[in-house]
Amino acid sequence: MNETKILLVKGDITLLETDAIVNAANSSLLGGGGVDGAIHRAAGPELLVACRMIGGCPTGEARITKGYNLKAKFVIHTVGPVWHGGYSNEMGKLAACYYNSLKLADDNHCSSIAFPNISTGVFGYPKAEAARIAIKTVNEYLAGKNSIKQVFFCCFDEENYLLYTKALAE
Ligand code: ADP
Repeated sequence: MNETKILLVKGDITLLETDAIVNAANSSLLGGGGVDGAIHRAAGPELLVACRMIGGCPTGEARITKGYNLKAKFVIHTVGPVWHGGYSNEMGKLAACYYNSLKLADDNHCSSIAFPNISTGVFGYPKAEAARIAIKTVNEYLAGKNSIKQVFFCCFDEENYLLYTKALAE
């Protein structure tokens, strides 16, 4: 029996106390706007030093650092796809972000992880479709053997929050 709980929260992911929070980073891992900027501000300058040492991350993959000044023990940095109309395997790349982040959390014995709505800000991924892929990929991952007990979807904007409320009720 799988007892992992999927939970929905609204607001700022930097305030969560999960073992890991996921950052919707860009491929340089050197920080940016949106959730990336918020995470770097809250974690403090040591996060940027750690990211510099990693030296970048391809789209769809994930890298882990400590959480520094965050409540979260780890930050998992994943690079979502930029939306190009759906013709560049954006769907596969977005699913890979969720899968690879869960795998890294699992490998680091995390029991809780929180995701932002990857790619749905500046990267322009249609929100309803992104929510569907996020939920499907998380459910598929949790169906296998894993260490994760709680997965939070942290929605910052009202539109995503409403979409997830609806999708998770189905
Ligand atoms: P991307 O480049 O992957 O699109 P963005 O940071 O622009 O990344 O947006 C991704 C999502 O993160 C958006 O849905 C946005 O509303 C959300 N977001 C922005 N700031 C925060 C925050 N502090 N906590 C959680 N989510 C956030």
